[in-house]
Amino acid sequence: MTTHPHAASRFCMHCGERLSTATPEGDSRRRLVCLRCGFIHYINPRPVAATIPVRGDGRLLLLRRAIEPRAGKWVFPGGYMDVGETAEEAAARETREEALLEVVNLSLLGVYTRPGPGVVVIVYEAEARGAGGAGDETTAVAWLHAHEIPWDELAFDSTEAALRDWVRRRSRP
Ligand SMILES: [Zn+2]
Repeated sequence: MTTHPHAASRFCMHCGERLSTATPEGDSRRRLVCLRCGFIHYINPRPVAATIPVRGDGRLLLLRRAIEPRAGKWVFPGGYMDVGETAEEAAARETREEALLEVVNLSLLGVYTRPGPGVVVIVYEAEARGAGGAGDETTAVAWLHAHEIPWDELAFDSTEAALRDWVRRRSRP
């Protein structure tokens, strides 16, 4: 393995030496390591916070992505957490930015991970306050009943997994 997916990390942040790939002593995985100063550059998944906004009539909001990856596909609002905010704050902020919508009473629906993309998706169900609209990274928003969810046009595996959990939770007596 000569290349690493995190290309920004080719140089040691402490001493500037080019990083190498090696298994550190006492470790079981190959890491990016600095052979000059010994620094180990651990790469961890990044948390994404999202909401499934729901109106009083039971419809949920989905938005159509304007940007890659998965432009044109449907997803609920969400994005990377910033340092200094809670997951709930990040989820509400992303909902404000992408769907022009305020949400309250966030309730954890689930946490979704898989080995590939290196993200941890934290999804809340939330009460919508307002009608919403298309933000900068969005071409359209839609308020849908559960039976109207476009299962074949969803953006990510985590989108489908969370929506399936949401439908299951809604149908519980
Ligand atoms: Zn170094």
